[in-house]
Amino acid sequence: FRRLQSQDPDVARVLLDELARVRGGIQLIASENFTSPAVLAALGSTLTNKYAEGYPGRRYYGGCEVVDKVEYLAIQRARRLLGAEHANVQPHSGTSANLAAYAALLQPGDTMLAMDLAHGGHLTHGSRVNFSGRWFDVVSYGVRRDSELIDYDEVRDLAIRHRPKVIVCGATAYPRLIDFSVFRGIADEVGAWLLADVAHTIGLMAGGAIPSAVPYADVVTFTTHKALRGPRGGGIVCTAELAQRIDRAVFPFIQDGPQMHTIAAKAVAFGEALQPEFASYARKVVVNAQALCESLAAEGMRPVAGGTDTHLALIDLRGSGVTGAEAERRCAQVGITLNRNVIPYDPEPPTITSGIRVGTPCVTTQGMGPEELEEVGALVARAVRNRESTDVTRTRVSSIVAIHQPYPSDL
Ligand code: PLP
Repeated sequence: FRRLQSQDPDVARVLLDELARVRGGIQLIASENFTSPAVLAALGSTLTNKYAEGYPGRRYYGGCEVVDKVEYLAIQRARRLLGAEHANVQPHSGTSANLAAYAALLQPGDTMLAMDLAHGGHLTHGSRVNFSGRWFDVVSYGVRRDSELIDYDEVRDLAIRHRPKVIVCGATAYPRLIDFSVFRGIADEVGAWLLADVAHTIGLMAGGAIPSAVPYADVVTFTTHKALRGPRGGGIVCTAELAQRIDRAVFPFIQDGPQMHTIAAKAVAFGEALQPEFASYARKVVVNAQALCESLAAEGMRPVAGGTDTHLALIDLRGSGVTGAEAERRCAQVGITLNRNVIPYDPEPPTITSGIRVGTPCVTTQGMGPEELEEVGALVARAVRNRESTDVTRTRVSSIVAIHQPYPSDL
C-alpha cells in the first residue's frame, strides 16, 4: 500500500476513505460483507496477470500449470462445501452466472418462469430492462397479498399454463425460506429445468443455517461476495448431466479469460467456509437478522412477511409516513448504511419505495450479537423518524462500531 500511496496518492486516498467510511459506520446492506485479509491478499496478487482461457488441464494459453492448481482447489472446495456434482468457479459475477445458466438451458425466445422484480426477484430474472427480459419470453410469479409469501399455487398454475423450459427460484429481497422441494415438484410436473439463483443465501446454505437448494435444483447459481464472505464474483454448481453444457456456456459462450486472482480468492473463501467457525457465523447471521427485525417491529416498523428466516429483513415504512428513499438518506446521516427497497404491491416507484432492506452479514462478521442488533434496530427507527438529534444517534453508532471494527488497524 505504501507503494500505491507514493505512486498514486489520488487512488490511495479513495482506498483509505472507503476504509474510514466502513470503520465509522454500521453497514446493513444485505448483499455486502467484509472479506478476510487472506481473501484480500489473494485478490491483490500477481495471478491477475495470467491469461488462462479454458479450464484446468485444457487451456488455450501456455504457462497455466501454476494457476491450474488454484482453480482445481476452488472447484474441489466448492463441490465439497455445497455437496455438488460439478462446479464452475469462473463466472465474473452473479449476473454472468445467470447469463451462462440461461445460455446452457434456453434458446432466445424460450419461456422461463421467474419471480417478479417488484416482489423480490432479481433484475436478471426477466426484468424488461435486462437481457433476461429482452431475450426470453418471461412469465413472472409473485408473493400473495395477504401473507407476502411466495404463492406456490400461482407458480404451479403458471407453469402448467405456460410450460416454461426453465423455472427460476431464488430472490434478492425475500426474507423467508424458499421451499425448493415444492419448486422441484412443479418443475418435474411440467418437464422444466429448475434453476435456483441463491446469490443471497449461498453462505447460509454453505454454513448449514438454512436448507440447501443443491439437492433439488438442476443448476444453482450464486455470488461469492455476499453472506459467503468471498471476493466479488459468481459461481455455478450443477448435476453431472449438465456439467459440460454449463462449462461451455461460461467459456467460450459468455466469457473469455477467467480472473485467476479472483478464482484464488474464491478458493480461499471456500476454504474458510469449510471451517466449523463458518457454520457458527452463518447461524449468528440469521439470529442477528431476527433480533434486528424484532427490534424494528417493536418500534412499529412492520416486517414484510412477518419476519425473517434468513440474513435480511424487508421493512414496510408506510406506518411511519417516511419513504424508503428518505429513510435511506436519514440513516446515512447517522452513519447507518442501508438501502431503500420496493415492498410487494408497493404504491411507490423503485426510485422512492415504501420500504428498506436491512441485512446482517457485515455486522456479524464484525462480531456484533443480538444485543447490539436490538440497539441498532432502535437507532434505525430513531433515525428514520428523526426522533432525536442526528449528532446524538451518530455518536452512539460510532461507539458501537468502535468496538466492532471490520478490519485490524494495521491492515
Ligand atoms: N442474483 C441475485 C438473486 C442477486 O441478488 C444478485 C445481486 O444482488 C445477482 C444475481 C447479481 O449479482 P452481481 O451483482 O454479482 O451481478
